[in-house]
Amino acid sequence: MQIENSYKKIFEENKKWVEKKKDENPYFFAHLAEEQNPDYLYIGCSDSRVHANEIMGLAPGEVFVHRNIANMVVNSDLNILSVINYAVEHLHVKYIIVCGHYGCGGVKAAMKPRNLGILNPWLRNVRDVYRLHEDELDAITDMESRYDRLVELNVYEQCLNVIKIAEVQKSYLEKGYPRVAGWVYGLKDGILHDLQIDFKKELNRVQKIYDLTKEE
Ligand SMILES: [Zn+2]
Repeated sequence: MQIENSYKKIFEENKKWVEKKKDENPYFFAHLAEEQNPDYLYIGCSDSRVHANEIMGLAPGEVFVHRNIANMVVNSDLNILSVINYAVEHLHVKYIIVCGHYGCGGVKAAMKPRNLGILNPWLRNVRDVYRLHEDELDAITDMESRYDRLVELNVYEQCLNVIKIAEVQKSYLEKGYPRVAGWVYGLKDGILHDLQIDFKKELNRVQKIYDLTKEE
């Protein structure tokens, strides 16, 4: 019964929200319906506690959002490749942000070598990040700190995966955007941490092997 009541309440709350927005600005929905013009593409975790607009303090229309388990940018995932393509070529976003979070269940699951059925191929991408940074991670003896560091390194590697995409490289070469940033959100304190990834340096490094701006 409780879930049925809470389900019904969603529509009641929605009506209240619509009225509140119209009171604040009678043209709110008319303007939103006309177009979206976000400067940011946010790639985050599906975790219900990490809500892009809210943690960034942005209104509807200001951030284009993609979320999946452990905020991954996977080369064979047509979903995220389509989101990035649309964000870069049609919305002309200025920043692509990969935002992980401490306490990420997906990253934690990947830290344990276990068979997790259908989740195996997805989590393998996180396990690959562990393998790439195995020496650094294994040197951290405190398991909580090692877990936090894997969350950060996973964000870093997903930023590199964004930079490896042809549309991102071409757009930056031609227009000077988008830039790519990596953040980690703290569930316990609500603070966003910028990993201060040096975009130009990483772009140069990536392009040494993955320069996709030149034709044959
Ligand atoms: Zn997560």
